[in-house]
Amino acid sequence: MALQNGHSKKSLDIAVVGGGLVGSLEALYLARRGHRVQLYEYREDIRKTPQVRGRSINLALSVRGRRALKDVGLEQHIIKEHGIPMIGRRIHRLDGSTYVIPYDARTNQCIYSVGRNYLNASLLKESDNYENVKTYFNHKLVEANLQNGTMTFLKMDTNEKVSVKADLIIGADGAFSAVRKCMMKQPLFDYTQKYIEHGYLELCIPADENGSFQMPANYLHIWPRGNFMMIALPNQDCSWTVTLFMPFTSFQSIDTEDKLLAFFETYFPDSITLIGKKKLIQDFFGGSPSPLVYVKCRPYHVEDKALLIGDAAHAVVPFYGQGMNAGFEDCTILNHLFQKNNDNLVKILSEFSDARWRDTFEICDLALYNYIEMRDLVTRPSYRIRKTMDDFLYWLLPDFWVPLYNSVTFTTMPYSECAKNRQWQDKVLMYILTVLGISALVGVSFLYN
Ligand SMILES: Cc1cc2nc3c(=O)[nH]c(=O)nc-3n(C[C@H](O)[C@H](O)[C@H](O)COP(=O)(O)OP(=O)(O)OC[C@H]3O[C@@H](n4cnc5c(N)ncnc54)[C@H](O)[C@@H]3O)c2cc1C
Repeated sequence: MALQNGHSKKSLDIAVVGGGLVGSLEALYLARRGHRVQLYEYREDIRKTPQVRGRSINLALSVRGRRALKDVGLEQHIIKEHGIPMIGRRIHRLDGSTYVIPYDARTNQCIYSVGRNYLNASLLKESDNYENVKTYFNHKLVEANLQNGTMTFLKMDTNEKVSVKADLIIGADGAFSAVRKCMMKQPLFDYTQKYIEHGYLELCIPADENGSFQMPANYLHIWPRGNFMMIALPNQDCSWTVTLFMPFTSFQSIDTEDKLLAFFETYFPDSITLIGKKKLIQDFFGGSPSPLVYVKCRPYHVEDKALLIGDAAHAVVPFYGQGMNAGFEDCTILNHLFQKNNDNLVKILSEFSDARWRDTFEICDLALYNYIEMRDLVTRPSYRIRKTMDDFLYWLLPDFWVPLYNSVTFTTMPYSECAKNRQWQDKVLMYILTVLGISALVGVSFLYN
C-alpha cells in the first residue's frame, strides 16, 4: 500500500457511498492519506458485467479530471492506453460537408474521449491495491442517520439488511443521491432540481469492414440543427457513440420506421450510411430517450459527519463535458483541504461547502448555455467572428485573454472566475466595436463632406 507524503496520523473510518467515477476516485485519494475506506456500491462490480445501454458510453476528459487522475497515479495510463484525443469540433452541415473548429488553435490542447466503464474499472482496480480500501458491491444505501454516522444497506443479492457506522459519510451516489435525501431533512439545506425538456438517445456508428474509423477520429463531431443536435465521440474499437439530443416531444413524434428514416434523411443524411439503416432503426426503437436533470444544492455537508461530492452535490447537463471533470475536481479540492487542515473534519467540510458552491452553480449554468452554443450558435457568423477574435487575442495575450471554453476545459481556474472573465471580455469587445463603429462613421462623414 502506497501512502502519499504527509499523510494523516489519525486514521478515520470513512464510508463512501457510490462506487461510480467520483466515489471510486475519492476512495483512492482517502486511501493514499491513510484512512480506512469502505466503498459501497449499489450495482454489481462493473468489471464483471457487460456495458449497460442508456448511460453515456464514453466521456470527454479534460484538464480538471486529468489533474485528479495524475494525483492518484492514473493519468498517463488512462490517456496513453485508452484516451482518444479530440482536437476540435467537426461540424456536419446539412449537405454532409464538414468543417473544423479547433478547441485551441494556439497550443493544440485537446480533450480525450474515454470509456466510462474502462475509467471506472481502472479506478476500482487501483483501489484493490490498497489494503485500507474495502469495496462492497450490491450494497444499496436505504437509510442513514447522518448525525451519528450510521447507515443501513440492502444487500441486493441476498435481500439482507446490514448496519454500518463511520466517522464520515461521503455521498458520491449520483444525481438521485440517497445521502442527499437524508440531508434534505436538515434545516437551511437549499435544493433545486430541474429536468430540461430535451432528452437523449444513444446510437452507434460501427467501425468499417477493415475495423477502422468511418469518420476522422480526432474530433468531437456535431450535427447542429437549431433546436436539437447529434454528436459523436470516438471509441477505442473504432466505433462512435452517437448521441441524439432533442425535445421529448420530437422523440415521441417519430413512431414509425418511415418517419425515422425521413427525419434522418432531412436532418442527418450523411449519418444514415455511417450508422446503417437497419442498425439505426434497431437502436432508435430498441432504446428510449433518457432525461437530463440538473441539481443545485447547498451546503454540501452536515457538521463533521457527512459530505456530498460529484453528481450527488451538483448534477449538470452534459453539454460542457464537465460533470465528471467537476466531480473529479471536488476530490482534488477535498484532498487539498485534508492536507491543509490536517484531517480536521469540522474545518474541511465547512471550507469545502463554502469554497465550492459558487463554482458548481456556475458550471451548471454554463452547461445549459453550451447546449445552445453547440446545437445552434456554432453555425452562426456571429459565433465564428467572436471565436476568431477570441483566438487572435488569446494568441496575442495568452496570459491575459483566455477564452471561456479554454478556461473551463484547459485550466483549473474556478468556474465562477471563468464566467467573470467572459463578462469583462464581452465588455472590452463591445467597447472596441463601439469605438471602431464610431470611428468608421466619423471617417465616412468626413469623406462625404
Ligand atoms: C449523456 C451524458 C454524457 C456525459 N458526458 C460527459 C463528459 O463528456 N464529460 C464529463 O465530465 N461528464 C459527462 N457526463 C456527466 C458524468 O456522467 C457525471 O458527472 C458522472 O458520472 C458523475 O459521477 P458520480 O460518480 O458523481 O455519479 P454516478 O456516475 O452517477 O455514480 C454514482 C454511483 O452511485 C451508485 N449509487 C446510487 N445510489 C446508490 C445507493 N443508494 N447506494 C449505493 N450506491 C448507490 C450508482 O450505482 C453509481 O455507481 C455525461 C453525462 C451524461 C448523462
